[in-house]
Amino acid sequence: MEYTIYTKIKERNGKTTEICAVDLPFYCRCPECNKETEISLFDEIAHNPDIDPFSSRFYCESCTAVFDEIREQVKHTLDDVDNMSAEKLHALSNLLDKFNEDCMEW
Ligand SMILES: [Zn+2]
Repeated sequence: MEYTIYTKIKERNGKTTEICAVDLPFYCRCPECNKETEISLFDEIAHNPDIDPFSSRFYCESCTAVFDEIREQVKHTLDDVDNMSAEKLHALSNLLDKFNEDCMEW
């Protein structure tokens, strides 16, 4: 046995099988598009010990890519915010409208 944390699943025939905890699949729904996404729960906990299974949200890969792109656009735009034209400010406002409060992790 090369693992120390495992769970046990009892099969119909009464036989009990051990499964290494990190091999268990966990899923969540992307709060943006509702796509089911598999997550590595133990990796997530290692990066964020405050994870709450009742409220933590995980975005799917494609929504994450979209948000990353928007964040990059906003960062480039904010670099020049003091000298921004009304047209650019309007574009920035439109970009920010795509976020809701929960997505604003700079
Ligand atoms: Zn999504």
